[in-house]
Amino acid sequence: MAGKFQIYNTLSRKKEVFEPLKPPFVGMYVCGPTVYGDAHLGHARPAITFDILFRFLKYLDYKVRYVRNITDVGHLENDADEGEDKISKKAMLEQLEPMEVVKYFTDRYHENMDQLNVLHPNIEPTASGHIIEQIELVNKILEKGFAYESEGSLYFDVEKYNKTFNYGKLSGRKIEDLLQFTRALSGQSDKRNSYDFALWKKADDRHIMHWPSPWSEGYPGWHLECSAMGKRYLGEKFDIHGGGIDLLFPHHECEIAQSNAISGHDPAKYWMHNNLITIGGQKMGKSLNNFITLNEFFSGEHEALDKACSPMTIRFFMLQAHYRSTLDFSNEALFAAEKGMNKLMESYRLLDELKGSEKSSEDVLVFKERCMQAINDDLNTPIVLAHLFDLSKLINQVNDGKASLSSEDIQKTREIYNLFLFELLGIRLETALTESTLADDLMDKILEIRQEAKNRKDYTTADQIRKGLEQLNIHIKDTKEGAKWVKGK
Ligand SMILES: [Zn+2]
Repeated sequence: MAGKFQIYNTLSRKKEVFEPLKPPFVGMYVCGPTVYGDAHLGHARPAITFDILFRFLKYLDYKVRYVRNITDVGHLENDADEGEDKISKKAMLEQLEPMEVVKYFTDRYHENMDQLNVLHPNIEPTASGHIIEQIELVNKILEKGFAYESEGSLYFDVEKYNKTFNYGKLSGRKIEDLLQFTRALSGQSDKRNSYDFALWKKADDRHIMHWPSPWSEGYPGWHLECSAMGKRYLGEKFDIHGGGIDLLFPHHECEIAQSNAISGHDPAKYWMHNNLITIGGQKMGKSLNNFITLNEFFSGEHEALDKACSPMTIRFFMLQAHYRSTLDFSNEALFAAEKGMNKLMESYRLLDELKGSEKSSEDVLVFKERCMQAINDDLNTPIVLAHLFDLSKLINQVNDGKASLSSEDIQKTREIYNLFLFELLGIRLETALTESTLADDLMDKILEIRQEAKNRKDYTTADQIRKGLEQLNIHIKDTKEGAKWVKGK
C-alpha cells in the first residue's frame, strides 16, 4: 500500500497524516502576491507548490476550496509598520492610480501562472475589497482587550496576548528575542512595544489609499487581510494555511495571534511553507541585482541567463527539489532540468511505437505504487520524478529489446505518466520540446559525431565540422569535460 497522505506541519514541526476537519471538504488558504511588480522565481515556487497540493487533494476526491489572495493595499516596504505602501509608491512613481498598478500586475501575474500551468484558485479575493471585514476584526480584537489605540492607529498588544497565549508558537521565536530583533523601530513609532504590530494605520499625506474607520481615515495592517479573507471564505477554522517560509514571521505568526485573540483558537490546522530560492548560492534581492522575472526567463533577456527557457522547464526545475528544501538556481541546473524533462517526454512518445509482447518482464504497477508513496510523503516530487526516470529507462530497454511489456502494460505505463507527470505534477506536454532544446539536442549530436571522427583519427571530418559551424558563428571549445559550443564571440 502507498500509505496515507502526510504533510509536514510547521506548527508541530513534524509530518502528520492529513485529516480534514470536515471531510470531504478541505479549505486551503495561501498568501498570494503583492502586485506592484512582475512575478519572479520566488513567486513561482509557492504557486507551484500549492498547485501540486491542490491537484493532489482533488485527486484524493476531496472537495477543495482554494483561496489565494491578492495584496493590493497595506503591505508596506520592508514588511514593516512604518513607511510607504508598496503599491502607492509604485503608483506615485508612475503617475498612475494605485488600482491601475494593481490591475496591470495582477493581469501579468495571471498570465505567468497560466504559462506555468498553475490551476486557478477557487476564490482570489483582494485586500482592498475586504476593508469592512478587516475593520470588524479590529473591533473584535479591541473588544477582547488585545489592541490599543495610539494617535489614530491601532496596534496589537503582543505582551498582553503572550500572557494568555503563546506568541511565537509557529516561528519558535521568544518575545524577549523579538525585542532585540525589532529594536530598530523604537523611538520613531507610536507603539508601546517595538514588537506590537499594526492593525489599522492612520494615513499620512503619503498614503493615497485610505478608508474611513471609527479611529481615523486610514488603511488596514498587512497581517489583517489574510485573517479577514480566510475567515470570510473558509470559516473560523480551516484545514491548511500555506505560503513561502519568508512569510512565517511575522506575517503568519501575527495571523495566528489575531485569530486566537478573537476566537481563542488558531485559524488553521496545518501550516505549510515552501522554502526559498537562491541564485548562485545568494539570496535573491533587488539590491543584489539578481532578480530575474518569469518573463525574463521565458524570453532569455537578462544578463545572468545563457538562454531562454520554457515555462515547463521552470516548473520541472522546481519539482526536482522538495518544496521544503532551498533551491539554488543556476544556468547549469536549469539546462539539466530541461534535458531531464525532454528525456521523460521522449520516452512517453516512444510508448506509441512500442510493440506489445506476450509477457512483461517487469511489473509496471510497482512504479505507480512507488510514485504514490512519494507524493503521499509530504509531496515528495523529486522522488516521484526519480521513479518516472526509472520507468523511462524501462521504456528504452523495451525499445532496445532488452526488456518486454505486454500491450496492456504499455497502456498502464502511459496511464502512470498521465497521472503523475501530467495530472499531478502539472507538466504540459505540448510545450515541452521548444526550439531551443531542439537546437541543444542537435548540437550535442553534431559534437558526438565530431568526437567519433576524432577517435578514429579522421581529422578532416572533425575540422570540416568545426569550420562549418564557425560559418554559422558557432564555436567549439575543447575542454576537460569534452567539447562545448558557444554562439557568437
Ligand atoms: Zn497572507
